Amino acid sequence: MSDSSEGASTLDRILGYASRRLGRDGEPPSSPTDKVFVIGLGRFGSAVCATLVDLGLEVMAIDIDSALVDKWVDILPNLRVADATDGATLKQLGVRDFDATVVAIGTGIEASVLTVAALSDAGAPNIWAKAMTPEHGRILERVGAHQVVYPEIQMGERVARIVSGAVVDFFELGDGFVLAEIETPKFLTGKPLAESQLRHSYEVSVVCIKPNGGQFTYATAETVPEQGNLIVVAGAIDAVKRLTDASRKGSR
Ligand code: ATP
Repeated sequence: MSDSSEGASTLDRILGYASRRLGRDGEPPSSPTDKVFVIGLGRFGSAVCATLVDLGLEVMAIDIDSALVDKWVDILPNLRVADATDGATLKQLGVRDFDATVVAIGTGIEASVLTVAALSDAGAPNIWAKAMTPEHGRILERVGAHQVVYPEIQMGERVARIVSGAVVDFFELGDGFVLAEIETPKFLTGKPLAESQLRHSYEVSVVCIKPNGGQFTYATAETVPEQGNLIVVAGAIDAVKRLTDASRKGSR
């Protein structure tokens, strides 16, 4: 646990690479994403915009609140005050010509649902929407969202797992499949990974390993973990949980 910041940044890099290579549903994106339309400049939407701009993408953002648009005008070059529930406005702003749209309205559930429906009617190609609850998410999918994210729920689960000490860091890739950074369980130390048969006994794979005081490197069948090493494992969430439970209890 001692050096989690460096480990976390390595995991972030792996995940950043994976998310650039793969769509949320695991299919390679059909074309690169260059232009993104963001609706809502609250905490979530403004973070999405700032990161997209940092990544060098072209971003247009709108908010119904002119004070928020004024607040971001120096940082985000392409902003408008507009009501996203108005389909004619969305068409006029050219939502069809963007590679993806992010609906960052959460608390205003009615506005969020109407916006996704209006985007879908306007032919926006790749609609991402934030949901506050599973019910909200299901409605968003019904009215045309292609991808639904649950930032509060997902971050809550992630923090709980990290705070509980079960994992150093944790990321869900979708469909219950996770990458987890954990301290090497005692029963894996002192012998090559091939001998531990982890995939056979726990249905998880060791993706990479960070030796004490060293950098993360790819794990191979010959890798011999030592006590205190950090490893990143990939597997179904239940399988990873079985492994971390066994590690905590000191069993095999
Ligand atoms: P945060 O990301 O800050 O947690 P939130 O999830 O609470 O936000 P809201 O506050 O409901 O979500 O909406 C986020 C932003 O979307 C706000 O800045 C709000 O002004 C904007 N917004 C809400 N309705 C519309 C709309 N119809 N058209 C454009 N923007 C809107």
